[in-house]
Amino acid sequence: LEEQKQFAEQRARDLKKAKDELEDYSRQLQLSSQYKTDFLANMSHELRTPLNSILILSQMLMENGGMDQDEIEEYARVVNTAGADLLRLIDDILDLSKIEAGKIEILTDEVNVTELPQMLKSLFDPVAAKKNVMFEVLTDANVPLVISTDGQRLQQILKNLLSNAFKFTEQGSVTVHIAVSPPEKAEQLHCGGPVLAISVADTGIGIPHDKQQIIFEAFQQVDGTTNRQYGGTGLGLSICREFTRLLGGALEVDSEVGKGSTFTLYIPSTRESEHELLTDPAPE
Ligand code: ADP
Repeated sequence: LEEQKQFAEQRARDLKKAKDELEDYSRQLQLSSQYKTDFLANMSHELRTPLNSILILSQMLMENGGMDQDEIEEYARVVNTAGADLLRLIDDILDLSKIEAGKIEILTDEVNVTELPQMLKSLFDPVAAKKNVMFEVLTDANVPLVISTDGQRLQQILKNLLSNAFKFTEQGSVTVHIAVSPPEKAEQLHCGGPVLAISVADTGIGIPHDKQQIIFEAFQQVDGTTNRQYGGTGLGLSICREFTRLLGGALEVDSEVGKGSTFTLYIPSTRESEHELLTDPAPE
């Protein structure tokens, strides 16, 4: 009888465990289908907004009923910006699909570090002025003048981090600091030579601690709901982290809600091979 009782108790425990697992699984399924629904709604919105501007404004330009030159230029500029937004979105989707297929091409060229501040200033000074946010690029005296890495990818990562910094900052400042990383970082990344540490710090809305890792996953946003305040697809940071990994570096975040965020990009100053086509699929 005792044996039967123990057997029944064990069965009851097993059943309870199976029931819990099933409930867990169904919760996850519901969550992922909600993510999918939100993502599709958000992506459609991201496509429709610039397309609508293009269609409406180009129609107005075609009809051109008594517009003056300034108005024509203004409308044409909005059409141009909307086109550029669409192209960026499509490029992000293409990059992500290449990453997932393990078909990203990484080149190695000589990148002049001293040219980076000017490039970033010319791109983001107008954004800073429009938002009334201060923008500074500081370079330490000891950074290597030239590094060998993929200059295009490096620029793409920095542009993405800066676009986010400005997007999520309404007042205060965005500061880029180009420095040499502490030696421990070079060791961690198995680099012989110096490692560049480029930080992008903002005084924006910040990121809750429990979201600071998932934002690097594709389609993940702190607020991914359809009635969110900020637009976007949640692709930028996952592409940044993957490009950083392919350049042999690391991308980290430190942030506090209401105070701001600092993204630090570590990039080795030398890459081993001249040119390589990476065919390994990205790790899960
Ligand atoms: P997107 O900006 O298109 O949403 P990203 O992958 O670039 O996609 O960013 C993912 C999410 O990380 C953003 O939606 C936002 O919630 C958060 N995030 C990224 N950068 C910042 C930042 N500088 N300040 C606050 N939140 C940020």
